[in-house]
Amino acid sequence: MQDLALFWFRRDLRLHDNAGLFHALQQHEAVLPIFIFDPNILSKLRNKQDRRVDFIHQALAAIDDKMKQVGSGLSVMVGTPEEVWNNVLSKYNVRAVYANHDYEPYARARDEKIKALLASKNISFTTFKDQCVFEKSEVVKDDGLPYTVFTPYSRKWKKTLLSKDYQSFASETLLHKFMKTSDLASPLNPLPSLATIGFEKTTVRLQLPDVSDGLIRDYAEKRDLPALHGTSRLSMHLRFGTISVRALVARALPLSETWLNELIWRDFYMMILWHFPHAATGAFKKEYNQVEWLPDEVGFKRWCEGTTGFPIVDAGMRELNATGFMHNRVRMIVSSFLVKDLLVNWQWGEAYFAEQLNDFDLSANNGGWQWAAGTGCDAAPYFRIFNPYEQQKKFDPKFDYIRHWVPEYNTPKYPAPMVDHAVARNRTLAVYKDALSGARQQKLF
Ligand SMILES: Cc1cc2nc3c(=O)[nH]c(=O)nc-3n(C[C@H](O)[C@H](O)[C@H](O)COP(=O)(O)OP(=O)(O)OC[C@H]3O[C@@H](n4cnc5c(N)ncnc54)[C@H](O)[C@@H]3O)c2cc1C
Repeated sequence: MQDLALFWFRRDLRLHDNAGLFHALQQHEAVLPIFIFDPNILSKLRNKQDRRVDFIHQALAAIDDKMKQVGSGLSVMVGTPEEVWNNVLSKYNVRAVYANHDYEPYARARDEKIKALLASKNISFTTFKDQCVFEKSEVVKDDGLPYTVFTPYSRKWKKTLLSKDYQSFASETLLHKFMKTSDLASPLNPLPSLATIGFEKTTVRLQLPDVSDGLIRDYAEKRDLPALHGTSRLSMHLRFGTISVRALVARALPLSETWLNELIWRDFYMMILWHFPHAATGAFKKEYNQVEWLPDEVGFKRWCEGTTGFPIVDAGMRELNATGFMHNRVRMIVSSFLVKDLLVNWQWGEAYFAEQLNDFDLSANNGGWQWAAGTGCDAAPYFRIFNPYEQQKKFDPKFDYIRHWVPEYNTPKYPAPMVDHAVARNRTLAVYKDALSGARQQKLF
């Protein structure tokens, strides 16, 4: 059996500027990359036409194609990581395993288990920062504690960027070091079809959107107007690593500080989840777990379908249902509406977004929902409540976005508003106030 180093692709599905892959290829003569379709993750997806799975499948096919050009190939396995690794280790003489860091609770637990399994066989498991620009304790307060407020975090982030060597990892120049298929002791596992793993084709395409310098330059001016093409639409690529965040920071720097800030928000929420994993399953500020939400399944269903009678909310939900994408401003409006107008638990909305969003990312989604609910680290205070009519006037003044997604708006077919915003607002203020004073009393006794 040959000595092999394995690179484990996860949410970094590219051959260029990939930190972990670069180090594996630089340090070993024979490297074989693998990918695992993990039933722990796939079995939770209820829609067989899941765009994310199709996107991953296309990204893997593109990697495999490029690897074939150098006489190699990608090995793709289906099974729990423990099963797959036990199987791989019995087939190949693996000396070292490489991967990039993943910060989510499930991934952290998974990596710990695999690290222990590899260590028990004297195989190293070396992982690298790749998904974000700064991680863990690279951007923390002077006393070493993590930031929980975005603005000072972003200031320190920018300072750190100036003080550190800004690096990319030219993994694409080392592809000749992939193990040749003909030299492998045991054949590769080819990419299974989507049907084999229980999914179907969708309309999603792997192709990168064309993001011009002009779009980035005008970002600050146009980013809040959902009827315009004013944002990059790169979130799905960032989510699955088909693009490198380092390359995007390099583009943002000379063109738009506002756009750079969005990339920093991404790092910020990733590191909030890393430092405060409790946020994944409840309010970041724990006293907000006392809020008494309404178990309003009918209202929630109308919100999901986009039939609330609030046109900006309905337009957003219908864009989401039809495409898997929703403009950021509208994400803020619909999330605020669900929580503050319907008084439905933000976690119901979080779960619905997790099912529907192409770019679903636990940290950004959780951060966005906790921001809207007022329960998060750097959230809008609970008493600041979006008025959906005012939001529409400001951000879709000519109803262009609304008309596109809600063609029956302003006809008898369109439903009346399902709540009175002013009444709902007062109800929410009272319920939050009660919950917080209750929580305070519990602390006193
Ligand atoms: C309730 C709610 C839920 C959200 N859920 C997600 C999610 O699951 N996945 C996700 O990627 N984004 C999420 N966002 C953030 C944001 O809406 C999307 O990143 C953005 O709309 C993607 O469009 P874009 O690629 O055109 O972004 P651009 O505006 O061009 O921004 C560039 C990139 O910066 C990052 N980014 C931008 N805004 C944020 C933000 N507020 N937080 C973190 N990263 C950001 C994204 O990676 C984005 O692609 C959520 C926001 C809210 C309010």
